[in-house]
Amino acid sequence: MLERNFDKLFTSVSLARKNTIHYSKNLLHLPKIDSMKLFCNIPLLDKEDIRKDYKLFLAKGRIEKDLDITYTSGSTGVPIKYIRSRRETIDLGMSLAMERKKWINANLPYTIAHFFKTVRPITYKYSKRQKSSMILSLYDHTPERLNLFISALSEFKPTILQGYSSTLYEIAKYIKDNNVKLPEIKLIENRSEHLSEKQRNFIENTFDTKVSNMYGMAEHYPIAYSCRLGNMHICEGNAFVEIISSNTNNPVGDGETGEIVITSLISETMPLIRYKTGDIGKISTNNCECGDTRAILELSYGRTNNYIKTPHGNINSSVIRRLFRYMYDDELNWINQSQIIQEDYYTFKVNLVPNKWPLNNVNVIERKVEEIVKSSLPYNVKIKIEWVSKLEKNPVSKKVSEFISKC
Ligand SMILES: [Zn+2]
Repeated sequence: MLERNFDKLFTSVSLARKNTIHYSKNLLHLPKIDSMKLFCNIPLLDKEDIRKDYKLFLAKGRIEKDLDITYTSGSTGVPIKYIRSRRETIDLGMSLAMERKKWINANLPYTIAHFFKTVRPITYKYSKRQKSSMILSLYDHTPERLNLFISALSEFKPTILQGYSSTLYEIAKYIKDNNVKLPEIKLIENRSEHLSEKQRNFIENTFDTKVSNMYGMAEHYPIAYSCRLGNMHICEGNAFVEIISSNTNNPVGDGETGEIVITSLISETMPLIRYKTGDIGKISTNNCECGDTRAILELSYGRTNNYIKTPHGNINSSVIRRLFRYMYDDELNWINQSQIIQEDYYTFKVNLVPNKWPLNNVNVIERKVEEIVKSSLPYNVKIKIEWVSKLEKNPVSKKVSEFISKC
């Protein structure tokens, strides 16, 4: 980690302490934060803390009507109000643009199309009377609606198309099946959803363009961004990343898996210090061959609220990620996507999306999947396998989760 980031980190803490009610109260027992040892004594911040009373986090002297307000989808279904200044929004946008610049030769302002939880199928935003961005609805992807999206994309010709991998894959499949020709899109950006190699190849081939990966959240982005070798480099200029043990809440060493906790180095209006993201990952001990010296974040794509619940306590759902790795085996190459749903302590449903029908080795595949899931769990469970055309979306986030616990 670079020295200057520690300076920026400690400055962010002292500003938060000076300007907000929450931090002036919560850090009262601590001396001036000027070392990592002291920094790790700062209590962790939970989304729920902000949801309870966001005003405690708002820096004094800020007038809400002059600020950008975002509502994030709380995992409980109750949105959280998050506020930043126009300047901070621009800084985050610039930082994202710098990451994209490594992929495409385009300067701001460029046009972008992205998916969002809106009821209207297509909405445009304007800048200087020109359409600057296009928002596509995440809901109801019927063939008619996908067709509407394709026509709108052909007309709007965005430089970048941003979406969740499951949605991007859905559109790519529609394009391929219907033999559609789209104008060039310079970059497709997957946002915060696991992108398998298979999905990436399919999307890249169908759109005839590159797919990058962005990890971030509505409150703060980008936290990490992929390089051309596919590694997620931490955006150290705007976020400080820690990994903590989900059991003890203490920081773990590099290379060890735990919950991702971030401190924003940009947001002074509503400081986020040691903010629990709910995402699981680790900081890699490897250097990347792309030449970028920034640390690599490896995401496990399991959320902490998506633990496997057992009669003896919780287990991190990443243990069943073995299944996704095995999917690249010869036999399991027939599976395109998979998803595991825990129905109760002892029953797991595995949804499998086949590459194509008919499958002539269904029994072999099912046995193998059953064996992998069973051997990943330290107690006896029942596995139900279902072949589906689409994976289930999380009813709250509208994202496809690889693991959902219903107990
Ligand atoms: Zn790299």
